[in-house]
Amino acid sequence: MSGGAINRVVVVGNGIAGLTAADTLREAGFDGELTIVGDEPRPAYSRPALSKALLLDGDDVSSHELPPTGHGATELLGVRATALDLDRRLVSLDDGTALPYDRVVLATGSRARRLSSLSEELTLRGLDDALSLRGRLAATPSVIVVGGGPLGMEIASGCLAAGCQVTLVSQGVPLIVQLGPHLAGVFVRAALDQGLTIVETGSARLERREGSARVVLDEGAVREAEMIITAVGDVPNTEWLADTGLAPQGVIPVDSHGLVRPDVAAVGDLAAFPTPYGLRRIPLWSSAIEQAKVAARALVHGHDAPPLRFQPYFWTEQFGLSLKAVGYLPLEGEPTYIEGEPGGGPALMRWSHDDGAGVAAALNYRVAIPRLRRMSQAAA
Ligand SMILES: Cc1cc2nc3c(=O)[nH]c(=O)nc-3n(C[C@H](O)[C@H](O)[C@H](O)COP(=O)(O)OP(=O)(O)OC[C@H]3O[C@@H](n4cnc5c(N)ncnc54)[C@H](O)[C@@H]3O)c2cc1C
Repeated sequence: MSGGAINRVVVVGNGIAGLTAADTLREAGFDGELTIVGDEPRPAYSRPALSKALLLDGDDVSSHELPPTGHGATELLGVRATALDLDRRLVSLDDGTALPYDRVVLATGSRARRLSSLSEELTLRGLDDALSLRGRLAATPSVIVVGGGPLGMEIASGCLAAGCQVTLVSQGVPLIVQLGPHLAGVFVRAALDQGLTIVETGSARLERREGSARVVLDEGAVREAEMIITAVGDVPNTEWLADTGLAPQGVIPVDSHGLVRPDVAAVGDLAAFPTPYGLRRIPLWSSAIEQAKVAARALVHGHDAPPLRFQPYFWTEQFGLSLKAVGYLPLEGEPTYIEGEPGGGPALMRWSHDDGAGVAAALNYRVAIPRLRRMSQAAA
């Protein structure tokens, strides 16, 4: 089917993917009626900052703010999309109204996966979560963080820096799944040096006994603390699309232009797009931005617009270490040290995957991202 004339575009989701799509639609020449629908009652903000600067910055809460936008869209904030009618081209809203569109961008992101329905289980996904955690950390309670991925480790690092006694419960070695053994080892050493207690387990669950919540490890051992925070992955927000068949496994598969059909784009954490390693969801900040730029142009210009040529960019800050990495993670084997040497000091490193694709990483090393990109592409 053809997309037809474009007078009205609706962007559903007011995160970085939706915001970038709106800005790019304008850059691509769309000057019609643009509406953004977001269920959070505030303008888009930096989610990565929530588990980094924002947990620690004293009274300053500005680290999450994004530069002002120029899309001039009508912003319907605090409003939830409840359904999409692909035939009639309508987005239904929870205030009982419906928005007609010629093109629609699906950008409703994801939410924290939970291990229980207990109110004691805290998660970190939105600004309100971060502000609430920060307030509670000020009383320096003992904390259990469940989840040894980048987010769990960043939260554990923030809690330690706030003066709390922190136990991290992890399925296997923290960060090994996401980063591979070499870099995971560097971060785990730094975390242990700073006083983190790490408990490795097969799986963990939460239960409430005698009025308080606790973490039960796979062999039945129990861990208790005044605060329990879980960081065990995310779940795409696609339930509102249930009647469309667009998200067969809860994720929306898109083509290399970020399109589901000529009039529908899906971008950010809810979309799986073609990569050299198959159709993948890559729920990262830079991935959301790159997908949104490509898809917005394709909505306006069709498949004449350039397709996604995506090279993942990942960063994390925790336990006094800062890592930037360009390329597909995780990384097996030892890196080539281009600058610095093993041991956790400032270093520039490069790995090669079996298919020849490279990854470049900077640890506590100031380097411009374009240089890291060039390094990742250079022959090993
Ligand atoms: C604490 C934290 C730290 C992170 N740190 C990093 C990092 O260091 N590096 C990195 O690369 N990535 C990081 N990420 C991941 C990164 O933030 C996400 O990949 C990115 O925000 C995805 O953007 P998005 O626009 O797709 O989704 P979101 O940011 O989730 O935005 C989607 C928006 O749509 C809204 N919405 C949902 N359903 C509806 C509906 N039905 N109607 C209307 N609106 C709806 C949501 O409330 C939300 O406002 C982090 C994530 C978190 C939570």
